[in-house]
Amino acid sequence: MSTTMSRRARQTRPSSRTRSRSKSRTHTRKYTYGFGGGRADGSAKMRELLGGKGANLAEMARLGMPVPPGFTITTEVCTYYYAHQRRYPQELRSQVAGALQRLEKALGRDFGDPDDPLLLSVRSGARASMPGMMDTVLNLGLNDKTVLGLIRRSGNERFAYDSYRRFVQMYGDVVLGLKPETDKEVDPFDELIEEKKRTRGVQNDVDLSAEDLRELVAEFKALIQKRRGVVFPEDPEEQLWGSIGAVFGSWNNERAITYRDLYGIPEDWGTAVNVQAMVFGNLGPDCSTGVAFTRDPATGEKTLYGEFLLNAQGEDVVAGIRTPQQITLEGSRRWARERGVDEEERATRFPSLEEAMPAAFKQLAGICRTLERHYKDMQDVEFTIERDHLFMLQCRGGKRTGLAAIRIAVDMVRERLIKEREALSRVEPQQLDQLLQPIFEPAAKQAAVREGRQLARGLNAGPGAASGRIAFSATDAERLAAGGDTVILTRIETSPEDIRGMSVAAGILTARGGMTSHAALVARQMGKVCVAGCEALGIDYARREMHIADRTLGEGDWLSIDGTTGEVFLGQIKTYPSEVMQVLLHKSLDPKQSKIYQTFSDLMRWADRHRRLRVRANADLPGQAEVAIALGAEGIGLCRTEHMFFEGDRIDAVRETILASDTAGRERPLAKLLPIQKGDFISLLRVMNGRPVTIRLLDPPLHEFLPHTDEEIAGLAEKIGVPTDELRAKCSALHEANPMLGHRGCRLGITFPEIYRMQVRAIMEAACELKREGMRVAPEIMIPLVAVARELKELREDAIRIANEVMTAAGVKVRYSIGTMIEVPRAAITADEIAKEAEFFSFGTNDLTQMTMGLSRDDAGSFLPEYVRREILPYDPFAVLDVDGVGALVRLAVEKGRSARPGLKVGICGEHGGEPRSIRFCHSVGLEYVSCSPFRLPIARLAAARAALEK
Ligand code: ADP
Ligand code: MG
Ligand code: MG
Repeated sequence: MSTTMSRRARQTRPSSRTRSRSKSRTHTRKYTYGFGGGRADGSAKMRELLGGKGANLAEMARLGMPVPPGFTITTEVCTYYYAHQRRYPQELRSQVAGALQRLEKALGRDFGDPDDPLLLSVRSGARASMPGMMDTVLNLGLNDKTVLGLIRRSGNERFAYDSYRRFVQMYGDVVLGLKPETDKEVDPFDELIEEKKRTRGVQNDVDLSAEDLRELVAEFKALIQKRRGVVFPEDPEEQLWGSIGAVFGSWNNERAITYRDLYGIPEDWGTAVNVQAMVFGNLGPDCSTGVAFTRDPATGEKTLYGEFLLNAQGEDVVAGIRTPQQITLEGSRRWARERGVDEEERATRFPSLEEAMPAAFKQLAGICRTLERHYKDMQDVEFTIERDHLFMLQCRGGKRTGLAAIRIAVDMVRERLIKEREALSRVEPQQLDQLLQPIFEPAAKQAAVREGRQLARGLNAGPGAASGRIAFSATDAERLAAGGDTVILTRIETSPEDIRGMSVAAGILTARGGMTSHAALVARQMGKVCVAGCEALGIDYARREMHIADRTLGEGDWLSIDGTTGEVFLGQIKTYPSEVMQVLLHKSLDPKQSKIYQTFSDLMRWADRHRRLRVRANADLPGQAEVAIALGAEGIGLCRTEHMFFEGDRIDAVRETILASDTAGRERPLAKLLPIQKGDFISLLRVMNGRPVTIRLLDPPLHEFLPHTDEEIAGLAEKIGVPTDELRAKCSALHEANPMLGHRGCRLGITFPEIYRMQVRAIMEAACELKREGMRVAPEIMIPLVAVARELKELREDAIRIANEVMTAAGVKVRYSIGTMIEVPRAAITADEIAKEAEFFSFGTNDLTQMTMGLSRDDAGSFLPEYVRREILPYDPFAVLDVDGVGALVRLAVEKGRSARPGLKVGICGEHGGEPRSIRFCHSVGLEYVSCSPFRLPIARLAAARAALEK
């Protein structure tokens, strides 16, 4: 905090003050922080200044872990760089030179030394991890002279030239901007490699000789000269500064900006640059490189999980170029089982790290345990083993599926590593969706297998089941999704350019890459169904075709993927409820048999213990109410009675009522509706068993109930015995120019009082009947669309009169209440007047948002997305409550309402009631409950607990 403030102070008051300050003090600002050899200038606490990667490298060094030494250039330099036309602070050069000297001394090797050159990596690292967003340059310091030193030192000419050609390629791509921008183009360097393989008649990169690679270096340099008009810099110093500049520059590349947009990372955070001594995982068979998670990132299981490649450089694992091997023996056996690889083949061709390099494995496992205990969270680490020596290159909180996040948080409480509250803060409410997500209906899946529709198997990278149409590129996915299709984005591998396409897809399928490939990481974060590394896929982007199991599929064809098992199927497969739903709702699974359910129920119990807000569901039918109770509803916050009016032939009676020209004409059909409505309320109140049920009286505009086509009009005319022409005339008389602001809600109640009277009678008769059975009931009668207190006063008096009549006739007393929806701005503004007539308020934030913003939800599609894209609005106000505008009205209404009636009960029943940010607001203004659709209840419970725990 203090660093931010002093930085701001420096920027707003420039020259004189800065100068006099730096004169009066002898020390200058520290821009580089060293690490390595068991000590570090920085620590994990300094991630704002050092970025996540730098801070954790420092921390690992402090913990005595084997980290190749290096130094971090702070994020302040990045901020300075963008505030000063891409120039560095004056002191930076000398500080970097000093840090480099210390590095040289520690390693006994000089940067640029032709006999034994120190090679460096230049790595970006922002405060929040942005996987694959920023670019890294490896093997820096190589040139035509130092490469000879590297050959002598390593005794491996091929390795030296391979390192050199990788460096020139990365430098060309990253620093000189030759990396292709779209999926269509190919990396020009890769083209040269392909060309070389063709002329040499070999298949794989590894078959190229040292001589081939040496030639490639020269060809790469020539390409750079031709394409960029610059000579590849042989001077290591120039290479270093070029790379540093590129990392800072990449903070504003398109991919980084997209990622920041998507995850709300502020632009002014900046990135740090890490300069680190290279270690090599590609020096021979006693070398390797890999990635590990301290727990399984897909399931959360407490087991070391990871992948590695023998004789490879770090980038290769993440890039998904080769299929990696498993770290643990257990994991390796599981992997082999799933792919039908027999034990002998596994042990010889794909041994685990545990078998191949037992000593380094043991050390790695120990470090992972220490890191997890130290950070008290699952860690994701990158490591390289150079000639049997382990080096740690990175650690950070590991990305995980929603399922894993929940399981890890709950397990860590059970292991006494973290507290209940901490567990609640670690699970994002939306992640609960993954526990409720459907799986394929077992019978439908078996049928698909029998029919030979099981095409292939890949890695189970993101749980859940998805069926959709194939799209071969992110842009195609966006196009299909915009047309209303569910999409399976199908790619050889994904890269950060694909993020938008991934976010609209229902599922993601890739042909290459492991559990730590880009596709897997991003899918886990987005909570997408994902199958990665499905090697049986042959994808031809140019023809928009894929070949799989002797079939050719094209764009738009149906595909189903099971992200829990990794299976890929042809066509559509019916989905089936999750384990949690099987236990809670269908009662088809014994809770003791389901680990997932137990985890879910622990977390929900803790959430319920900490939340203050109550949760209710928006439900109209008994079946929905059952789901709601299973998922934790403490009542119904909104029962929309009009939904009941559309069923079967009830609509005819409703139409007859509306079209009648006098009271008597209305009472006749209403008498037919009364027993039906009463029946509805009996079943609903029975399911809710004494929990409060808010029933909203008829709300929608009349025209929604009217017949529209000539055929419908004629049919109805016959049924109710009215001449067709008369009926048609009546219908057009009822036509409204602006129905949402027209004859609806309590305005109907005022003009056609018989309708509300029938509804109140039905509610009260139902309640009395149940009460007489000995059941507890708590109906709450809600009058919609009130704008002035007088409307409510009249309707309420009428309702009380009916209620008394019913109770007297039934000879029982029922506790009931009458309140209103606050959804017209005027009602919020005059809430004190309204509260005199209302025992409760329920904020109908859908209408309140429409009317406060003058924004029709049904018509906003043509401009609202652009508003959000251009940040004119921070988000869609129908999804996330507009706290400053609509929220201000809510706050005002709560205050005024409670001032006039201290015991006033206040809740919310709009869509926002199930959205975490909006729930936080509801908590802060002191609402008593939120009401949302049944499936969002777990999310609401957790969000409410998190709001209560926030300080
Ligand atoms: P990212 O932020 O995309 O993960 P990194 O900075 O971690 O990028 O670098 C990418 C890869 O380069 C890593 O997987 C790591 O294995 C490799 N790498 C980075 N620095 C070094 C180093 N000093 N020695 C060996 N390999 C390195
Ligand atoms: Mg990394
Ligand atoms: Mg409304």
